Amino acid sequence: VSPAHSQPLRTALTSVLTHARSLTDGEVASYIPELARQDPEQLGIALASVRGTIHAWGDSEAEFTIQSISKPFTFALALDALGLAAVTEHVGLEPSGEPFNAISLEETSGRPLNPMINAGAIVTTSLIAGDDDAEKFAVVRDGLSAFAGRRLDVDEDVYLSELDTGDRNRALAYLAQAAGTLASSAEVATRAYFRQCSLRVNARDLAMMAATLAGGGINPLTRERVVSEDVARWTIAVMTSCGMYDASGDWLVRVGLPAKSGVGGGIVALQPDQFGVGTFSPRLDARGNSVRGVGMLEQLSKEFGLHMLEHR
Ligand code: GLN
Repeated sequence: VSPAHSQPLRTALTSVLTHARSLTDGEVASYIPELARQDPEQLGIALASVRGTIHAWGDSEAEFTIQSISKPFTFALALDALGLAAVTEHVGLEPSGEPFNAISLEETSGRPLNPMINAGAIVTTSLIAGDDDAEKFAVVRDGLSAFAGRRLDVDEDVYLSELDTGDRNRALAYLAQAAGTLASSAEVATRAYFRQCSLRVNARDLAMMAATLAGGGINPLTRERVVSEDVARWTIAVMTSCGMYDASGDWLVRVGLPAKSGVGGGIVALQPDQFGVGTFSPRLDARGNSVRGVGMLEQLSKEFGLHMLEHR
């Protein structure tokens, strides 16, 4: 996506947004009570090229909590610090085909199946350096901010709401602790994980974060190397196989871009070496993926022939 193409891009994006506005299915997440307060009509999209060109439309500056979109980025930070072998002793790389909050632990190893579902993400956060949740969260916040190219803040209300109602996540952490795959106490891991999920972003931040992975680990604007090229590739691979939970296979057929969704209403997608996209619309389908976000990315993929397996 270069500026030279921005006129057709503008036309296509206007049509994508118009079409997305007609999609009114789905519900705003309510299992975290504070999320139910979001305005369901918000709709934004941003694209960032690996060269640092940004295009943004609609409510691209509206902030929401990153939720599960934090998972690939924290996974990347753990991989960068510890390497693939050490991380995969604790968490697998296999699509689970199960909902994001599934009780997923491999029978023999006790590892959660992958780092994109809650069980695997909580274990991943436990692997981040730090003696307590504050120290671990500080590392996560610095790292995710480096991906975004600006300092990200926590939505305290969402954090407290999740802390208050996150028993299922606590249960997942305790199961991993019992299986010996958690690298900290269950309480430390879940508190750091809840804070990580409560970081506030907008569609533009998500586009930059994805563009940093697409650019092999270098933030297109700050030029900072956030993670190594290998780590960026491994992370994109896991997004490809597991990024949309139990809709990952369907997504790969219909959209064909590495992606990750979150229950705050965001989705990131990317094309390696090319660009990152961030979308925002809070109404979710039954699997927890943004209805309008999926709609926009599906249409964009078709219109621009972005499917990774496209015959060229
Ligand atoms: N913080 C949320 C949870 O753990 C993240 C889930 C999601 O975005 N799918 O339930």
